[in-house]
Amino acid sequence: MSAWTKTGSAAVFILVGSMATVATAQIDYDSIRNEIGTVSIEARVQRFEPIQSVVAGAFPIHTSNYDVVAVWDPAGGRAHESWDMELIYPLPGEMQISFTSNETVGTRRQSGGLAGRSVEPMESSRIGANFKDLWLSNPILLLAHAEQRAVSNGDRDDNGDRNDQPLESHQLALEGTEWLVEIDGTSGLPASASTTENDPHRGRIENRIDFSDWRDVDSIPFPFRLEQFTGDRLVRREIRAGVDVNTEDAESVLAFEVSELPPGDPAMRRWGWDMSHIVLKRAGGGNIGNYPQIDNVAIEEIAPGIFLVPSTHNNLIIEGPEGLALVDASWYPERSHTLLARMAERWPERPIRYLILTHHHIDHTGGMRPVIETGASVVTSEKNAGYFREVFESTMAQDVNLIEVGQFLSLDGIGREIHAYDVYTEHADGMIAAYVPDEKLLFNADLFSPNRPLQFSLWFDDLMNAIDWHGIDVEKHVGGHGSGIAAHPVDVSGHTMPVIRRLETGAN
Ligand SMILES: [Zn+2]
Repeated sequence: MSAWTKTGSAAVFILVGSMATVATAQIDYDSIRNEIGTVSIEARVQRFEPIQSVVAGAFPIHTSNYDVVAVWDPAGGRAHESWDMELIYPLPGEMQISFTSNETVGTRRQSGGLAGRSVEPMESSRIGANFKDLWLSNPILLLAHAEQRAVSNGDRDDNGDRNDQPLESHQLALEGTEWLVEIDGTSGLPASASTTENDPHRGRIENRIDFSDWRDVDSIPFPFRLEQFTGDRLVRREIRAGVDVNTEDAESVLAFEVSELPPGDPAMRRWGWDMSHIVLKRAGGGNIGNYPQIDNVAIEEIAPGIFLVPSTHNNLIIEGPEGLALVDASWYPERSHTLLARMAERWPERPIRYLILTHHHIDHTGGMRPVIETGASVVTSEKNAGYFREVFESTMAQDVNLIEVGQFLSLDGIGREIHAYDVYTEHADGMIAAYVPDEKLLFNADLFSPNRPLQFSLWFDDLMNAIDWHGIDVEKHVGGHGSGIAAHPVDVSGHTMPVIRRLETGAN
């Protein structure tokens, strides 16, 4: 693909190659752009999450089902989405969440789920992610509103199994982003739309939606079945129940009070836009994934030479005479850059020898790449090794030293003993806990969160059973979630309950 043209009129394009399909010319993108004020979509969606499965690298897990109503004004940059969700992961429950925004500010209302009931300004990252998703989900409107377009013909030989008919490819520019829309050679309708996005583990990754079941709505074709993949892994299936254009109530649905909201953050909008697949896939888990959390990086000594970096996702730093060990790596690389700068100020001469990853979930490992680039060895369960080795080999320029933990491993590279123990748990197959023997301090992620009022009893019991099984002499617990230190044995009377009950009571 080489030819690009500026199109004042979106229906004008350059054909490259010899076989122009007739069908695409039948869609008048100019009139679609001019005639569609708003589009209203009702759909039933299943969402899947590739990087939270129990087994690293396994098939994506099913995280939620929801009914969604979306009303969108593409030319005016306004949208309203209302999601009625049945949550499956991380915890079962129900949640209603709605977003009303323009391109820079908006309001998020939610009730149920982990976050309780709230009405808050919509995060700029979420605004970016939602608009990106609307464009990607509606390829005819994407084609109609593209700022630049180039067209080529031919087979897609790299993915020939998806469609054996000749395809026409439209390369688009919109909002400073390149998109690819592939037109099915038989129907003349988009078979897929894709773009590349940032992925904390894999760097640039394809975000693609495949379309089928096309139906005319006011003579405009809309797909009624959508299947979305990031890096060829399933993240969403959507069946549309209805599509309408220019409905009478659209204006009232899109209306909100802009003057009451704080100004948006363009950089965060771009951040969410550039990884809409990450921001949207845990839509049901609340809003904690909508910030890189770079402004709250503090290193707090909780025991001699042991430091907690508190956040929604905590790190632990273990200091030794010959180096440092870091346990877990936050959600996003941006936060790791800040943490690395703080660590370099505090310990200018001491390298990070180990990055100990408790498990593969992206909210505890998404920030791993900048840490590994300093030369740290990665310590993780042997059950995760294949997954991480493949990620490192396919995305990192340097060789990464991967240290695999079976049942138990003792590490002495920082001049202070650190132990890693295998933990059998429902939460993740390849789970380890890090232990500093001279302080009898154990760090776990997700199983027990110190000083939180409620714990998920199944995962808590998994950790306590592992401590008994290995005979670990624990006095102090610290966690990837929660705060500070909790003494062992843990008094959880009144604090552990099946999570189902917790959600029914509506407690936070
Ligand atoms: Zn986890």
